[in-house]
Amino acid sequence: MRTRIAAARLTDIADRLDAGVRLDAEDGVRLFASDLLTLGWLANRERERRHAGRTYFNHNIRIEATNVCVASCLFCSFARLRPADPESFTLSLEQAWNKLRQRADQPLTEVHVVNGLHPDLPFAYYTDLLAGFKRIRPDVHLKCFTAVEVAFFADLYGMSDEQVLRELMAAGLDSLPGGGAEVFAPRVRRKICHDKCDADRWLSIHRTAHTLGMRSNVTMLYGHIETIEERVDHMMRTRALQDETGGFQAFIPLAFHPDNNQMRKLPAPSASDTLRVHAVARLMLDNIPHVKAFWIATGVDVAQTSLWFGVDDLDGTVQEEHIYHMAGSTTPEALTTKELRHLIRVAGREPVERDTLYNVIPTDRTDGLRETRIGIPS
Ligand code: SF4
Repeated sequence: MRTRIAAARLTDIADRLDAGVRLDAEDGVRLFASDLLTLGWLANRERERRHAGRTYFNHNIRIEATNVCVASCLFCSFARLRPADPESFTLSLEQAWNKLRQRADQPLTEVHVVNGLHPDLPFAYYTDLLAGFKRIRPDVHLKCFTAVEVAFFADLYGMSDEQVLRELMAAGLDSLPGGGAEVFAPRVRRKICHDKCDADRWLSIHRTAHTLGMRSNVTMLYGHIETIEERVDHMMRTRALQDETGGFQAFIPLAFHPDNNQMRKLPAPSASDTLRVHAVARLMLDNIPHVKAFWIATGVDVAQTSLWFGVDDLDGTVQEEHIYHMAGSTTPEALTTKELRHLIRVAGREPVERDTLYNVIPTDRTDGLRETRIGIPS
C-alpha cells in the first residue's frame, strides 16, 4: 500500500495521520483531488482505528409535522409556501401523536422531527408536540428541530435562541438534528438559501445547545454549486466548533437530489463523489466520533460501499421520510432493523444497534420487522 500511497502523492498525509497530526485545509483540498481507492484506504484505516468493523444504526421514525415554509431554498422539494397549496400539510397534534401511538409495539428509540418554517403556528404547537410524544413514549429520544427552525422560532416569537432551546428542552427535547447546515460558505448560502439563518447563527445555536447539555449532529449538502474549497471550509468550521464544545456526534454528508426543485438542471452527485465526500470527512474531522451515510440520500448500494470509505453509521430505519422522496429519491420508504443488519453484514461489517446517544441496544430485542412492514399508518 505504501507504493500506492506514494503514487497518489499522499505519503506526507499518511505519515501525519500515523503520527496523529491534524490535517489542514490544504490537505483537505488535495484529498478531494486524489486517487479514490487510496483515499478510501486511508479513511477506512481511520474508521477502523475508532470503530473496527462496527457499523451503527438505530430504530427511528421521521415525523414532519408541516411542510408549509416561508423560506425559498432552491434545492428544496419539500416546502410549500402557503397552507392552501395543494400539497401542503400541517398535522394536528393528534395526527402527529398518532404516528407514535400506532407504533406502540415497535422498539423505537428515536423520533426525529424536521419541519418547514410555518409563519402562523403558535410556539405552544411545538412544545405541546414534544410533551405529547414524551407522554406517549417517555423512553423515546426526541431529536427535533434544526437550528434553522430554532432561529425562526426565536425571530417569530420574540425570544432569544437560548430561550427557545430552554423551553423546547423543558417540553421534552433531547437533542438537535444536524439539518439546515447546507454549506456554510456565504457565497453558496446567498445563492441557494438566502432567506434562512446564516452559518454563524447555525453554529451559534449548536454551541448553545451543547452548552445546555444537548448533543447534536452536523450535515453538509454536497453536489450542487459548492466548490471543493467550500466543502473543506465547511468541515474546518465544524471541526473548530467541535474543538470548543465536543457536542457533535456525527457528520452527515447529504447528497443533493435534483428532482422537483429549482436546481433540477444540475445533475445529482455521482457515487464516486459521494464516497469521496464521506472519506475526506473521516480524515479531516478527527474530533467527531462518527461519519454517517444517510442511505435514503446515497442509495443503499453506495451506503454499503461507503462502509469501506470511512463511514461507520447508516442512520436507521427512517420510517415516514418525505423530504428526500419528494426530491426524487428512489430508495425504500423504510428499512427494518433486520434488513439493516443484513445489508451491513453482507458488506462485511458488524451491525450494532444504538440509541441516539450511541448507547448499544442489546441484540435480543424484538426486531420490529413485522410492525414496520404491516399496518404502516399514512
Ligand atoms: S430546506 Fe427547510 S427552510 Fe428551506 S425551503 Fe425547505 S423546508 Fe423551508
